[in-house]
Amino acid sequence: MNAPGSVVRTAPASSPEQVFDWLDEEAAKRAEAGLVRRLRPRTADVGELDLAGNDYLGLARDKRVAGATAAAALRWGAGSTGSRLVTGSTELHAELEHELARFTGAQAALVFSSGFTANLGAVTALSGAESAIVTDKYIHASLIEGCRLSRAEVAAVAHADPAAVRHALATRRRNRALMVTDSVFSVDGDLAPLPELAAACREQGAALLVDDAHGIGVLGEGGRGAVHEAGLADAPDVVTTITLSKALGAQGGAVLGPRRVIRHLVDTARSFIFDTGLAPGSAAAALTALGVLRAEPELATTVREAAGNLAERLGAAGFVVGAPAAAVVSVRAPTPEDAVGWAARCAELGVRVGCFRPPSVPDGISRLRLTARADLTESDLDKAVGVITETAPERARG
Ligand code: PMP
Repeated sequence: MNAPGSVVRTAPASSPEQVFDWLDEEAAKRAEAGLVRRLRPRTADVGELDLAGNDYLGLARDKRVAGATAAAALRWGAGSTGSRLVTGSTELHAELEHELARFTGAQAALVFSSGFTANLGAVTALSGAESAIVTDKYIHASLIEGCRLSRAEVAAVAHADPAAVRHALATRRRNRALMVTDSVFSVDGDLAPLPELAAACREQGAALLVDDAHGIGVLGEGGRGAVHEAGLADAPDVVTTITLSKALGAQGGAVLGPRRVIRHLVDTARSFIFDTGLAPGSAAAALTALGVLRAEPELATTVREAAGNLAERLGAAGFVVGAPAAAVVSVRAPTPEDAVGWAARCAELGVRVGCFRPPSVPDGISRLRLTARADLTESDLDKAVGVITETAPERARG
């Protein structure tokens, strides 16, 4: 970033029409770099095979879950009407928090309006100018924003590397410390070494914050998440954030952890206090999804198997595929342009896949990002592998 003094001041805009001219200049640069993004609204009932969304258990359209949204909206209103601290907490929010804590084995839970705001709130409230934060260098953007807002001394270290974390914590210049990581990394779908990271944190007197957005509902016993699987769900020094918008098919986020952490967030997390509470319909949907998952714990195993199958078959077809820890399968593309073209050709043939390229990927490697769902059939998998193979750019194999 330029130091403020190094910016050359040119003539200011001479008319209101020119004030935003700089946006056009930036848009032209993005176009040149192939970085223009496009919104592609989904059309209901078109029958596209979705390997891009995060509806891992197929619950977003489940009649029980979607029906709960409608019933709660009719009973409580379409919106929550205010901050959680004023009018935005309904009995549904309280019940959801109770159930989330019970399901994951955490002492307590606090529901936010999204996973993004849960991460912002947790990171900023649990650190400050007097603390150090050590992060994995591939953490989600919402955690990075939390670190930036925190005013802490921040060190981003090598990916999935407990020794690097231990070293950064040991050489910090602040007393208090927080280590921040994703459990399942959102681009490559690999898993953080949580037990080793927890051990490094303990040795160095640091707290551990794990974003289990892609683990909840997919990993651990009956989908209790990666933190539960690592035996850390009720640890006094571990805080977990989740989203309600992926495996649970709803919308919203939550922080899970020791009771005193949750109390602290209620009093101090700005993205909790100054944000309108989660819509009642979304709270009801998440609550119903948790009930479905309790009744059908095999959903979590099924989605993992589907991801494993997809990765294996694409690997056998010669593509460079990461070993999926949860539902996310990543397939390497030779160049950003290849990735964009590949994804577009898949869409034309009725298979929607995600496409990640710089700057969304910090390592500069472009990929297709595929997500498995528990309700994928064998013929869905056949179609996915067929279309991805047929549309692959040259040099995508090996
Ligand atoms: N963390 C991770 C790892 C994510 O992938 C996402 C969603 N892309 C979020 C947090 C944000 O969650 P939400 O979409 O509920 O805001």
